[in-house]
Amino acid sequence: MKSPPPPLGLLRLAAAALLAVLALRAPDSDRGAPLRAAPPLLRRLSFRRLAAAGQDFGLRLRRPPAAILRPQSAADVAAAVRLVFAVGRGSTLTVAARGGGHSLHGQSLAPGGIVVSMASLQRPPAIVYAEGEIFVDASGGERWIDLLRETLKHGLAPRSWTDYLHLTVGGTLSNAGLSGQAFRHGPQISNVRELEVVTGRGEVVNCSDKENDDLFFAVLGGLGQFGIITRARIVLEPAPKMVRWIRVLYDDFTTFIRDQEMLISLEKTFDYIEGFVMINRSGILNSWRSSFNPQDPIGSAQLNTDRKILFCLEMAKNYDLWTLQEAQKEVDEVLSRLGYLPSTLFQTDVTYVDFLDRVHASEKKLRAQGLWEIPHPWLNLFVPASRIHDFAAGVFGRILTDSSSGPILLYPVNKSKWDNRSSAVIPDEQVFYLVGFLHAVLPSEGEGGLKKALENNDRVLEVCRREGIKAKQYLPHYTGKSEWMEHFGERWETLLRRKLAYDPMAILAPGQRIFQKGKVP
Ligand code: FAD
Repeated sequence: MKSPPPPLGLLRLAAAALLAVLALRAPDSDRGAPLRAAPPLLRRLSFRRLAAAGQDFGLRLRRPPAAILRPQSAADVAAAVRLVFAVGRGSTLTVAARGGGHSLHGQSLAPGGIVVSMASLQRPPAIVYAEGEIFVDASGGERWIDLLRETLKHGLAPRSWTDYLHLTVGGTLSNAGLSGQAFRHGPQISNVRELEVVTGRGEVVNCSDKENDDLFFAVLGGLGQFGIITRARIVLEPAPKMVRWIRVLYDDFTTFIRDQEMLISLEKTFDYIEGFVMINRSGILNSWRSSFNPQDPIGSAQLNTDRKILFCLEMAKNYDLWTLQEAQKEVDEVLSRLGYLPSTLFQTDVTYVDFLDRVHASEKKLRAQGLWEIPHPWLNLFVPASRIHDFAAGVFGRILTDSSSGPILLYPVNKSKWDNRSSAVIPDEQVFYLVGFLHAVLPSEGEGGLKKALENNDRVLEVCRREGIKAKQYLPHYTGKSEWMEHFGERWETLLRRKLAYDPMAILAPGQRIFQKGKVP
């Protein structure tokens, strides 16, 4: 379904009005005055809080937009994109959808352009039954935590998550959306059946694997390059009430890896499997995000080891009160097959919501200490399982030593759960690892700390180059065309074809820095 385009003459007139409004916007004391007489779309433009919209969670760039669009419908988003399209190649005006601005290298920014505040797109989630499955239709700006709370009212929940739920549906679907459920259900982009998208031509298009399938797969994992997701139909499952949340420690990488890969290959296994690398700094391990206070042996200094690097396997089993016994039996059975350090088993029972929203608990603590809004020079990689040992040998204990701060995630996923028609770029191997260096630069570390973290990231990438490890960046960040071409590899041609089809003027998501407005070949 496509909306009919308005006549060109009218569009040009409106585009000229848009440019005039952006150019003539009133000074601080009288913000918004020229808009009172403007057409409805222009009245949805705001010039407040531009500085905040000009930075993201990475906190490394400050590039404010000219205006923020607060749309009330997909039609508003489409109208804005059509106007920018009508302005033509002569202008540098661009449009970036902004979910929560949790990007790390300015991907959600539109310097001097229009940032679309997706949160304004109010459309209450709706439960849909179709073809024997249950879905929720969610707005692209919906936060996953709100979606969870809404679907739980029906005893339902999405089945594939991210570790942190205060991200938006459109934001994570533009990347992949990955957590400890991905080994079984695939990333979030594998759990979407339909999208409503505003393309870079300003058309509102419904798409799925049956209708406009090329656009559907282009947008999933498409880094915002082909369209703005205004609605997504997401697969649901019955929601469990409780979660048995388990952590164990390893001091041997080979055993840790063997157990992780064994767990993700089993039919009867945990519902969530992740792992992280822990730097043992005088007994204080770098675990900020989900501590089991107060008895947590991992967060405490009770561990009697002089090993500098330890590995934590984190697992969860969902259950309801009537399946508790069966779940307990399965947990015991699977745990008995693992080779962790016996004294390090810790289990706790929490509600499903508390488990899924666990990083937010850490966020609150960090915010209270002024440690949330600090630079985050993260590096996330997908590393082929066949090279994970070489990767570990080159990186852990060499590049990452006891001065590195922030968690280091390391867990495997099954490629068979990814759809290779999507735009997401992953290694060409059946099992690959997400390795996430989630650095945070503490205020006490200053510029030097940031520089060091960035140098460490470069050194990690250098290990991959030197050792011929074909890793791919997740939430990728590059500055040059040749790097992007290498990232996409043989998919580069598909990327170009899709860009020309859906955003030929390169209006959308300029912060990814793949294309420049008006310069798509
Ligand atoms: P934004 O940062 O606002 O946008 C990200 C990109 O998507 C931009 O290019 C933007 O233009 C585009 N975009 C936003 N909305 C739309 C839309 N509706 N349609 C089209 N394009 C759009 N990721 C994981 O996969 N797993 C995790 O466990 C995980 N944990 C995280 C924990 C924290 C604390 C943080 C800060 C991030 C985490 N991420 C994780 C990364 C997250 O997926 C990205 O930050 C992503 O950018 C989503 O954030 P957002 O919704 O705020 O989107």
